[in-house]
Amino acid sequence: LLAPDGGVGQTIFAEMTVLANRTGAINLGQGFPDVDGPDYVKEAAKAAIDAGRNQYAPGDGVPELRRAIADHQRRHYGLDVDPDTEVLATTGATEALTAAILALTGPGDEVITLEPFYDSHAAAVAMAGATHAPVPLTADLRLDAIALRAAATDRTRLILVNTPHNPTGTVLTRAELEQVAALARERDAVVLTDEVYEHLVYDDAEHVPMATLPGMAERTLTVSSSGKTFSLTGWKVGWLHGPAELVTAVRTVKQFMTYTSGSAFQPAIALALADDEAPRVLAASLAARRDLLCEGLEAAGFGVVVPQGTYFVVADGAAHVERLGLSDARELCLRLPELAGVVGVPVAAFCRQGSTAADALRSRVRFTFVKRPEVLRDAVGRLAALN
Ligand code: PMP
Ligand code: GLN
Repeated sequence: LLAPDGGVGQTIFAEMTVLANRTGAINLGQGFPDVDGPDYVKEAAKAAIDAGRNQYAPGDGVPELRRAIADHQRRHYGLDVDPDTEVLATTGATEALTAAILALTGPGDEVITLEPFYDSHAAAVAMAGATHAPVPLTADLRLDAIALRAAATDRTRLILVNTPHNPTGTVLTRAELEQVAALARERDAVVLTDEVYEHLVYDDAEHVPMATLPGMAERTLTVSSSGKTFSLTGWKVGWLHGPAELVTAVRTVKQFMTYTSGSAFQPAIALALADDEAPRVLAASLAARRDLLCEGLEAAGFGVVVPQGTYFVVADGAAHVERLGLSDARELCLRLPELAGVVGVPVAAFCRQGSTAADALRSRVRFTFVKRPEVLRDAVGRLAALN
């Protein structure tokens, strides 16, 4: 099992998916949709294969994908991005993040993350040999500006932000992001921002890209992925953009990780990126599914912080942990298949082992709602058996 800060083992997602498959439980642990993205995008990938786009793509991605990424950033956020020098197509957001961390940090450098953090962030920092400085979110799962300041030193090289935030579903406000931006400018640090859930925001929440804040485009690397926006997680088409010299450094590392990324999927995602309707429809349907799952979890005795983004909800299973004589959510997650036929992921898996955050979140479980409504209704019915 991956000890998030200690190195590299099996991810919690793989472990919990194996558990779901072995027990036949409904897998609300690993976040992947059970309905694929738009047919016309799939047809475009097939057409690209038939048209012979089956050999290595250019190292920085096919030109139409880089152009589509730049257009997307201009259309949605007013960002001015040069598709030829400031964009890198990657094998999912995972590669973009890992290559960026390896390119920009090494022994002696400190990398700040918000804790809980997405597990690959910590693994990449460990692989780079850099020092990880996680900053716990507040009890209501928001940025703790004081703790953030306290974590910064003159060796802070990178501040890694993830909004909308996995696992909590927190969407950082402009004011919260300003706190990060101010610190990055003061410390002359680069911000690496993981915005893979940029289109999955609900209610009146707004996704604010870090690069749009004053003075930040020049020190921000923005990462996103088509996996979440277009429900095509298995295609692994992600990207990164930022100042040319930073992107060049990341491209150098990417050359020796994967060399290039899947050539037939890239033109298809270029087409998808021009589509603003599909992500809107997905977000609207996810908002309804979020409500279904949150209400069901509450009825089943979990305390819920309703997320404003992502497709995850963090639920407090303290009542069940206590009633069953368990020690934490990890034990509860291992018992959930047998108790309720459902799988979730302990939030402590997104924390450094033994940290304050891991302790504060010890009874929390992350569940995904990116499943068909009938699957969620089935899961909610099963969870009711816990009472
Ligand atoms: N960052 C976050 C916050 C994620 O939730 C995920 C997907 N689980 C990724 C990165 C990885 O994205 P990809 O599948 O495109 O590599
Ligand atoms: N991003 C998804 C999650 O958080 C899947 C992660 C994975 O399988 N590595 O569940």
